[in-house]
Amino acid sequence: MTKKGRLFVVGIGPGEYEAMTMKAVRTLESCEVIVGYTVYVELIERYFAGRRFLTTPMRRETERCRLAFKEAASGRRVAVICSGDAGVYGMAGLVLELSQEYPDVAVEIVPGVTAALSGAALLGAPLMHDFAVISLSDLLTPWEKIEKRLRAAAEGDFVICLYNPASRKRADYLSRACEILLEYKSPDTVCGVVKRIGREGEERRIMRLDGLDAYEADMFTTVFIGSSRTTEIEGCEDGGQERPFMVTPRGYQI
Ligand code: SAH
Repeated sequence: MTKKGRLFVVGIGPGEYEAMTMKAVRTLESCEVIVGYTVYVELIERYFAGRRFLTTPMRRETERCRLAFKEAASGRRVAVICSGDAGVYGMAGLVLELSQEYPDVAVEIVPGVTAALSGAALLGAPLMHDFAVISLSDLLTPWEKIEKRLRAAAEGDFVICLYNPASRKRADYLSRACEILLEYKSPDTVCGVVKRIGREGEERRIMRLDGLDAYEADMFTTVFIGSSRTTEIEGCEDGGQERPFMVTPRGYQI
């Protein structure tokens, strides 16, 4: 049976047009309909004039995906957009699960630059060695499990990258995580935070683990906690990107 509709799940990167992959741009240009959470549609709308944009509020993920499938099932080329990469706390999994109900729609996943990577570049090179990515959101994962993963990552001396460190309802989650990490890691551990990468109000800070709990993280913040090897490097004073740099040495002799 030939598939009728096409549904693309597209990661649009952190926010700025330049940080989208060429494949993501070309895919969106080829689509008639683009479906997404209101904030992300607002970020890219102006670059894709003439497409029909359909938005749903946050927490309406299943509804959003079904809307996209219905559009695609009637023969259109449709894209569902996610920030960063759609396969990292995004909607790629949900779309593929739902795809079983829509056998006439062919699904394709288009990767994007996830916040761990765009954030790492802003900070320097914190992810040069093994790292663990943990989301502090307990909407879909019990907090006990999150805590267990934090402990395991700290025990393994991974660099830890935290997504969803806080929201209005979960203001103290980052300090709860810091408390746990401090049981295993030195208070001097080099940490970095990035806020609103590629968007208005972009911010980056480097600090120590014992100061991290005082940082006011929000839902557009990604947090990096160094391994025992991670250091701070001053860099060249003149021009270039903001300093100092957060660096986890790969181990090369210099
Ligand atoms: N699919 C996204 C992640 C969605 S979960 C990705 O791959 O990047 C939402 C979390 O991602 C936020 O709480 C934050 O931790 C991180 N995030 C997404 N976009 C960001 C940005 N522009 N700046 C900083 N953090 C961001």
